[in-house]
Amino acid sequence: MDKPKHTEPTLIDPYGRKLDYLRLSVTDRCNFRCYYCMPEEGVEFVPRKELLTYEELSYLTGIFCELGVRKVRITGGEPFVRKGIMGFLGKLSDIPQLQQITVTSNGTLGEEKMNELLRLGITNINISLDSLDKERFFEMTRRDKFEEVFDCILALLQKGFKVKLNCVLAEEKNIQDIIPFVELTKSYPLSVRFLEEMPFNGKGSFETPKWNYKAIFSYISGHYSEVEKLLDEKNSTSTNYRIKGYQGSFGIIPSYSRTFCGTCNRIRLSATGEMRTCLYGPPRANLRDVLREGADKERLIQTITDVVAKKEKDGFEAEKLQASTPKKSMTFLGG
Ligand code: SAM
Ligand code: SF4
Repeated sequence: MDKPKHTEPTLIDPYGRKLDYLRLSVTDRCNFRCYYCMPEEGVEFVPRKELLTYEELSYLTGIFCELGVRKVRITGGEPFVRKGIMGFLGKLSDIPQLQQITVTSNGTLGEEKMNELLRLGITNINISLDSLDKERFFEMTRRDKFEEVFDCILALLQKGFKVKLNCVLAEEKNIQDIIPFVELTKSYPLSVRFLEEMPFNGKGSFETPKWNYKAIFSYISGHYSEVEKLLDEKNSTSTNYRIKGYQGSFGIIPSYSRTFCGTCNRIRLSATGEMRTCLYGPPRANLRDVLREGADKERLIQTITDVVAKKEKDGFEAEKLQASTPKKSMTFLGG
């Protein structure tokens, strides 16, 4: 989506980082139950009235864009399980300052929505896929949907989407999938990104991941003699590589080791209006509450800029602010 460039005020944090990327969660609900994200049973989703309405989401996103946000990633929960999502995306694509809308999904969106995304100019999509083996996929997501997700990925590629796959790695779960995933990049122009597991499973217990970015890279480079380093995009959380001669690429995201915080340009808004400047930190304001108290635009802008002024240096500093609070599920935080 190419839009005219605007020279607008920007959100600058205390470390001089320009925050121009909003991760917007549209729902806490999901049709999967990935083990690293939420428990199999007994997940208590918030009552619907606590979710930001589409009108509220559009209004708040518009304000963020006036303040300098240029890229929005739609996430959740699973964004496509929320009714009316395509209409909402249509509204967002009308925001003049917004240069890019991207989506993260579990790959159960269906062909009609893919076509609609293309019509809206949304061509970048991240799909979560943790295994290329049907049984392991089931073990990890607790849903028998491997074929549907894999077919979705192929259809997206065929339609010309720029597709990134997100694969969360863990010992005794899917290490045997690493090389098959890299091999997938031989014939498909995909970017497969391996993520360290983060402590947001909604259980409260978590062990430091053995498969950190160093272990992942050393495992892959042990299998291939020609691993080329690629130039990473500005503010990228992944370090990217290509196996010589392969069409696609692979990346490693140190989501637990947090080596990328220095260039962080992100702001997060949860489906219930919680504004965070770091996934590891506490919410710094609830914009839904401020909005529903009848705040005018000036007050919302003040609230947002006050939060940005408190952005943590990195994910470790952010984590210290809530050391005693049990870690939430990623589906509530907005992934
Ligand atoms: N439902 C969509 C999906 O699965 O892509 C969007 C929401 S999901 C919370 C966003 C991303 O967060 C996914 O790529 C998922 O793999 C990742 N994720 C969720 N919980 C995680 C965890 N505990 N550690 C690392 N990544 C996690
Ligand atoms: Fe659902 Fe995505 Fe969480 Fe899996 S990672 S349970 S697909 S929100």
